[in-house]
Amino acid sequence: MISARTDLAELPVLPAREVAALAAAGFRTAAGVLDHLPKRYEDRRRFDLFPNQPTSAAVCLRGMVIDTSKRHFRSGKGFYEAVVMNGEGGVFGSGKITCRWFNMPFIHKLVAAGQEVIVYGKVKDSNGRLIIDHPDFEILREEDEPGQSIHLERIVPIYRNIAGLAQRRLREIIHLLLLQCDPASLDGPFDADPATPRATALRTVHFPDSAGQAAAARRRFALEEFFTLQLNVAWRRMRHLEQRGRVLGRRTTLLTAFYNSLPFDLTEAQKRSIREIIADMRQPRPMNRLLQGDVGSGKTFVAMAAMLLAVDSGCQAALMAPTQILAEQHYLTFRRWLEPLGVRVALRTANRDETNHIELAGAPQMIIGTHALLHDEALFGDLGLIVIDEQHKFGVAQRAALIRRGLVPDVLVMTATPIPRTLTMTIYGDLDVSLLDEKPPGRGKIITAVRESSKQTDVTRFVKEQLASGRQAYLVYPLVEESENLKAESATEAFEKWRKRLPGHEVGLIHGKLKPEEKEEVMRRFREGDTAALVSTTVIEVGVDVPNASVMILHHAERFGMAQIHQLRGRIGRGGHKGYCILLTDGKNPEAMEKLKVLEQTSDGFEIAEADLRLRGPGDVLGTQQSGLADLRFTDFLADTVLLREARAMADKVIAEDPALEGAHRALRQLIQDGLHGT
Ligand code: ADP
Ligand code: MG
Repeated sequence: MISARTDLAELPVLPAREVAALAAAGFRTAAGVLDHLPKRYEDRRRFDLFPNQPTSAAVCLRGMVIDTSKRHFRSGKGFYEAVVMNGEGGVFGSGKITCRWFNMPFIHKLVAAGQEVIVYGKVKDSNGRLIIDHPDFEILREEDEPGQSIHLERIVPIYRNIAGLAQRRLREIIHLLLLQCDPASLDGPFDADPATPRATALRTVHFPDSAGQAAAARRRFALEEFFTLQLNVAWRRMRHLEQRGRVLGRRTTLLTAFYNSLPFDLTEAQKRSIREIIADMRQPRPMNRLLQGDVGSGKTFVAMAAMLLAVDSGCQAALMAPTQILAEQHYLTFRRWLEPLGVRVALRTANRDETNHIELAGAPQMIIGTHALLHDEALFGDLGLIVIDEQHKFGVAQRAALIRRGLVPDVLVMTATPIPRTLTMTIYGDLDVSLLDEKPPGRGKIITAVRESSKQTDVTRFVKEQLASGRQAYLVYPLVEESENLKAESATEAFEKWRKRLPGHEVGLIHGKLKPEEKEEVMRRFREGDTAALVSTTVIEVGVDVPNASVMILHHAERFGMAQIHQLRGRIGRGGHKGYCILLTDGKNPEAMEKLKVLEQTSDGFEIAEADLRLRGPGDVLGTQQSGLADLRFTDFLADTVLLREARAMADKVIAEDPALEGAHRALRQLIQDGLHGT
């Protein structure tokens, strides 16, 4: 028996060349190699029939190489081909498939006629021939007798490739290490399932007897991974609870005056969120709360209420927005509602024009700005509350940077990106969550429709009608300038076209390349109704609020993400008019069409997020960098609510028993990534 912790180089079981290949891939111990779990399995007790047409899914075929050749396209680009014939002599289906490799100069040394092989991949049609490009390819040997081999007549693990090791050899090494390692040395700091030793689970996950066994074993390792994630979350939460903050929000004079000044009632969801925030602020520890609400659910008013509480307690409150436009817009909204109450509001952005230096009769009580305000030391004399709008644009790191300044302000994070609940728990597990699950009344309904780009004339007519009845329109484009790869109609070009299409109306143009003061001027003209239609890129994505705008035309809609479109269309139907969002697309990509259809059918942000998750997977949906999910191996389990809850309960229990992880759980300290995610 060997210890799984021993350096591979010290083990006599592997040749030096293989140890070097493993080391190059980052594996230094047997335990490390055994953690290289299969990416999939092949049931080699039965194979697929040779297809006689292209397939939409990968097939697994067993056959004989009957011919190989080096070839090249007319362009000169070379490739290698191997024709594989059905072992049944062509009785079933076509009986022949061509495997093709590009840029693999050594492949001809490995593949030769007469070999018995297993190939795996999607079959496509190329000029009447059925082809698999770059298949998973494995050559069988004579010793692969039924019942004897780990490579045949059983469920066989397939691994992500490691350079310098054939799939078959890697499988043998893993099999060997599983036999040779002392089971106790394979235990980790955390045992997800005491009933089954970890060594046994590893054997099962690599060499299962059934698909069910494999799934159960994978789930155990997923649980291990999510436990680690949750332990970090629980750890952060615990450290957070230990911080001393100040007690704010006892006085509510300003808040009451604010309520009385509003021409409408707050929604029940807004009131509930404000109550939760008050309770947090009155605690002697800092608030750390996420306010989640779909576009238009009224987050700004909740933020105002929280900030008024801070001001009433004699300290400052800051609101940080992701873009200049948004900061400026918030600033106007705040002044409109709060100056009558005597609150001094200041704007602080990187662009220090005169609005930044408006004379106040004293130090500002509220500061609205972009992240530029983070760098303004003078502002932070007495900061009691900081509100971060649209958290996803900032990312976890910036939130942490803010809090690491040594100030211990209350923090309220606001986001309109609907995140499925299970993911909220995983990513924002250290934040308390308030949910605005209700929209203010009197909202115009938004009707969304997918249309072919060729219908531009109809679309133009519709826009004209809306403008004629006094409404305004957003005409949105995915790119600012002509790019070589994407021949998207650029906003600048489109602007000229729309000016011709809409004679008698002022058309504006806004995009990211404009100077901040130019942007603000364009937005001001649109807000005040001087321009009837605004050609824009996605700079208007978050938060822009022009209630009279009722139409949005999204060009090349297939290029936008689902969440992004949902955000964008939240810009219309804000003033009680019916809103119309038209998604223009060439309709060529079926996946894109499916995505757009979902948006046509539902306006529920959570439903859209779930669909997005299903269609694209969590990594793409969340932007792994920001969500801290970059290193997850078991992203496919992110939708498994039961597993996530289980992991969370386990982590909570550990932290509750041993908050500093100094006692019985000392070994778990190595799973904590201090500082990586901030607080
Ligand atoms: P969010 O930031 O969540 O997208 P906002 O706070 O910008 O939403 O609010 C959207 C619009 O709804 C604004 O025009 C705002 O004045 C209005 N609004 C907010 N709360 C209410 C309410 N309780 N009743 C009526 N209108 C409201
Ligand atoms: Mg907002």
